[in-house]
Amino acid sequence: MKNRSLLLLLLSATIITSCSKKLTGPYALTNKVYKHQTDSLVTILKQAGPPILLDSLGKNIPGDWVGTVNFNLRKPNYVIIHYTAQDSLPQTLRTFTLVKPQVSAHYVIGKDGRVIHMLNDYLRAWHAGISKWGSISDMNSLSIGIELDNNGNEPFAPAQMKSLLLLLTQLKRSYNIPTANFIGHADIAPPRKPDPGKYFPWMLLAQKGFGYWPDTVLVPAPPEFDSTTALRLIGYDTSNLPAAITAFKRHFVQTDDTPELTPCDLDVLYNVYRKY
Ligand SMILES: [Zn+2]
Repeated sequence: MKNRSLLLLLLSATIITSCSKKLTGPYALTNKVYKHQTDSLVTILKQAGPPILLDSLGKNIPGDWVGTVNFNLRKPNYVIIHYTAQDSLPQTLRTFTLVKPQVSAHYVIGKDGRVIHMLNDYLRAWHAGISKWGSISDMNSLSIGIELDNNGNEPFAPAQMKSLLLLLTQLKRSYNIPTANFIGHADIAPPRKPDPGKYFPWMLLAQKGFGYWPDTVLVPAPPEFDSTTALRLIGYDTSNLPAAITAFKRHFVQTDDTPELTPCDLDVLYNVYRKY
């Protein structure tokens, strides 16, 4: 009996040792959850069957399943840029690996330029929340979310911007993302979100082919120029017009974000709208 207890003790010690060998590092456990969840998605992808349709009397409408041979995964077509509004990179990583906050992003970039990939680009992260851009009301399904470690009240670090530009270059090429489709969280959720904020260098991004920026010389907006329609054509949800104007100015004006369009703001809007 004594020997058997000793054997069990040794066996459990061996199991614990071998488990602890596999699970190392602060995110070993959540990485395991990630793997389990992606495995469960494969099960969903493999489901195949006829549509179940009912007529007005509740009777089955006959259907069939015939698998096509021509398909691949849907691609992201937008990039949404955020700031974390948190105090450190580890704090953000912790938030995105906890279940309770229900938020995530595909990439997080630290101030030192370190890029952390947190979700396969083809999967749907939870970064956009309630949002609208043009007729798109489910931006999470169409986009890659990039979070920049920044508390919202400080300039973005040069090393961070360098990594962001490299990442954007790769994403644009991989998924053929149009120039206009590199936008910020504030653009798609004007009443709720201010990020990436007035310090974000949209001009630099536009120079590299990610999003637009007004030209240096502006043609004055004509007297009949309809600013609300122009904002809507760019993509802004104008149901809350002051919020839409503030979001536009945070992105394309940046010197102030008051919810009014000055004559100079109107010229900027006219210039930007003609690029879309
Ligand atoms: Zn955001």
